[in-house]
Amino acid sequence: SVATRDVHLAFGSTRVLRGVDLDVAAASTACVIGPSGSGKSTLLRVVNRLLEPDRGDVLLAGRSVLGDNPDHLRQRVGMVFQHFNLFPHKSVRANITLGLTRLKGLSKDEAAERALHHLDRVGLAHKADARPGTLSGGQQQRVAIARALAMEPEVMLFDEATSALDPELVKGVLATMADLAAGGMTMLVVTHEMGFARSVAGQVLFMDHGRVVESGPPEQVFEAPESDRLRQFLSQVL
Ligand code: ATP
Ligand code: MG
Repeated sequence: SVATRDVHLAFGSTRVLRGVDLDVAAASTACVIGPSGSGKSTLLRVVNRLLEPDRGDVLLAGRSVLGDNPDHLRQRVGMVFQHFNLFPHKSVRANITLGLTRLKGLSKDEAAERALHHLDRVGLAHKADARPGTLSGGQQQRVAIARALAMEPEVMLFDEATSALDPELVKGVLATMADLAAGGMTMLVVTHEMGFARSVAGQVLFMDHGRVVESGPPEQVFEAPESDRLRQFLSQVL
């Protein structure tokens, strides 16, 4: 499970997170929606400790992680961004084995085997020897997902993983994410894909101005929004 408690964060005088509480139960998926600038990416970056909150707490499996070594924490939390940042001059397989040999201490053979297993999970075992540049954007994003999964994280964070993709490639990546969710991964997903949130999330959180304004099961958030802000947001995106 992953949770935050009263998380605050400011950049200078700009208060970007203003008391964020969330709870994602183990093996469940929560989707975060909300307008641009509401703090969604900042929140994910606090959860995997690319940023330190000014106040509040981040919990994994019920235990605060703010005192832990951030590098260790990042091995427990996989993150997939909009831009996948694969190394262009390395093979798909090598992109995945790098972290496994350097951070997890696996032998080259163990790492190669694990890389292939996770490539297979995202349907790309046959691309192990290819350079990332020869793959479609959707395939590259699935390699990035496999790379994160290969670290065997407890939680996966996704920040608009499909927003940089051509429309026809979005579906395959969302299907990979839905498979992961169905397989029992704990996921916190920032997305503009309302269809995905509706069909995959157990919980949808609507953020505005650095706060979770409303949250609940998708049918409640989408069909019976309580706040004017959420109603207005949904009228723009649905
Ligand atoms: P989007 O939907 O456009 O991705 P978001 O909800 O992810 O938006 P954030 O990226 O979390 O929003 O940004 C929230 C606010 O924090 C914005 O006003 C942004 O300009 C500001 N911000 C984010 N990162 C920094 C930074 N490193 N330094 C200063 N301000 C920042
Ligand atoms: Mg963002």
